[in-house]
Amino acid sequence: MSKIVFFCIPAHGHTNPTLGVVRELVHRGHQVSYYSYNVMREKIEAAGANFISCDDYDMEQKLTPKDAARIGKDLAFSTKILVDTTLALDDKVCKDMEEMKPDCIVADSMAVWGKSVAMKLGIPFVSSTTTFAFNRHSAKIMKQSIGELINMIFSMPKINKDIKRLQKKGYPVKSVLDIIQNDDETHTVVYTSPEFQPCSETFSDKYSFVGPSIRPATSEIEKTKEKLIYVSMGTVNNDMLPLYKQFIEAFSKLNYQVIMSVGNQVAIEEFGEIPENISVYESVDQIAVLEKADVFFSHCGMNSVNESLYFGVPLIMLPQTAEQSGVAERVFQLGAGIKLKEVNVNAIADSVNTVLNDENYRKNAQVIADGFKRCPGAKGAADKILSVCVNPVENFAHSD
Ligand code: UDP
Repeated sequence: MSKIVFFCIPAHGHTNPTLGVVRELVHRGHQVSYYSYNVMREKIEAAGANFISCDDYDMEQKLTPKDAARIGKDLAFSTKILVDTTLALDDKVCKDMEEMKPDCIVADSMAVWGKSVAMKLGIPFVSSTTTFAFNRHSAKIMKQSIGELINMIFSMPKINKDIKRLQKKGYPVKSVLDIIQNDDETHTVVYTSPEFQPCSETFSDKYSFVGPSIRPATSEIEKTKEKLIYVSMGTVNNDMLPLYKQFIEAFSKLNYQVIMSVGNQVAIEEFGEIPENISVYESVDQIAVLEKADVFFSHCGMNSVNESLYFGVPLIMLPQTAEQSGVAERVFQLGAGIKLKEVNVNAIADSVNTVLNDENYRKNAQVIADGFKRCPGAKGAADKILSVCVNPVENFAHSD
C-alpha cells in the first residue's frame, strides 16, 4: 500500500478531475489524504480520501473582493499570496508529512504549497494540471500582451523578495518559475488528450495526457424541440445579467429549446418575462444537458469545454480570461466552434445559425471526442502516480 497526499485550491474545476483518480487509488488499496477547503470536503470524502482542511491557513480566503480580483492578473501580488499561504501552512504540513511519510505528493499546478513542500522534504512529486500544460511552445496560444509582460518585468524585485522568504524557511526555490511552471523533469498529469493539448509533442515523456474525467449524468433532460441550445458562463464569474437578457431576446425569436444556467449571483426574477422555449436555472446537471445539446454558448472554462467536446457538442465561445481565451483559441483552431465577436442580439442569433447550419463543427467536435475516449483517464493518472511513488514497482497494479 502506498500513501499519497493531494493538495488543491478551492475551485471545483481543479478538484473535480482529481476525484476519479482518488477513487481509483483507494479502490486499488492505497491510502489517500487530501489537503483542500471545507467547501470541497463532502465530495473529497465521498471519493474515499482522508480530508484535511486548509481553510485556517489560506490567505486568498481572507482577501477583500478588490484584492481577490488581482489574483492571476498581478503576478507580484499573486506570488505574495502563494508564498504567504505556503508559509502559513509550513509548520503544520511539514509536521504532518514527517508523521505520514507519504510515498508521493500530488498537487494542483496552482496549489504551489504542495510542490514547495515536496521540494523541501524531497518527496516524489506529481503535478496535477487541469488546464493546458504550458511550455514556451504552448504558451503562444495564450498570447500574453505587452502590458502583462511589462507588468511582470517591473514585478520582479517584489517577487524575488518573496522567493527569499521561502528560501529562508528551507525551500530550495531558485525563482518564481520553479513553483509556477513545470519543467521537462516534473512528472505531470494533464487532464486532456494529446490531440487537444496544443503542441503536445513538445512535452517530455514525464507528461501523461490522461484525458478529461467526465462524471456521469444524474438526471435526464427532455428534448422538446429539434435543436437544444445550452448557455452557461461557468460557476465563478457569472454575474452577467445584461448578457443573459440579450440571450433571451435573441432566442425568443428562434424556434429552439434553450437551457440557461446563470449561477447564484443574479436573481432570476430580474429577467422579466421568459419565453416558453427558454428555461433559466441557477444551476443544472451540465452533463445531462450536454448529452442532448446541439450547441453550447460557453465562457470556455477548461471543464466546460472538455465536457462539451466529449459529447461532440460544438461551442460558441465568450472567453473572459486569458486562460479561457487560450482554450477558445484551441477549439477554434480545431474547427469545433466559433468565437462570438460582438455581443448583441443579432450576432448571437447569427452565430447559432452558423454553427447549426454547418455540420463540420459537430464533426470536428466528434473527432476531439474520439481522441478523449482513447485516453486512459483516471486509471492512467493512478498508474502515473504509482510509478512515481517511493516503491513504484510493488505499487503498480491495474484494477479491472
Ligand atoms: N457546472 C454544472 N452545472 C452548471 C454550471 C456548471 O455542473 O449549471 C459544472 C460544469 O459541468 C463544470 C464546472 O461546473 O464541470 C465549471 O467548470 P469550468 O472549468 O468550465 O468553469 P469555472 O466555473 O471554473 O469558471
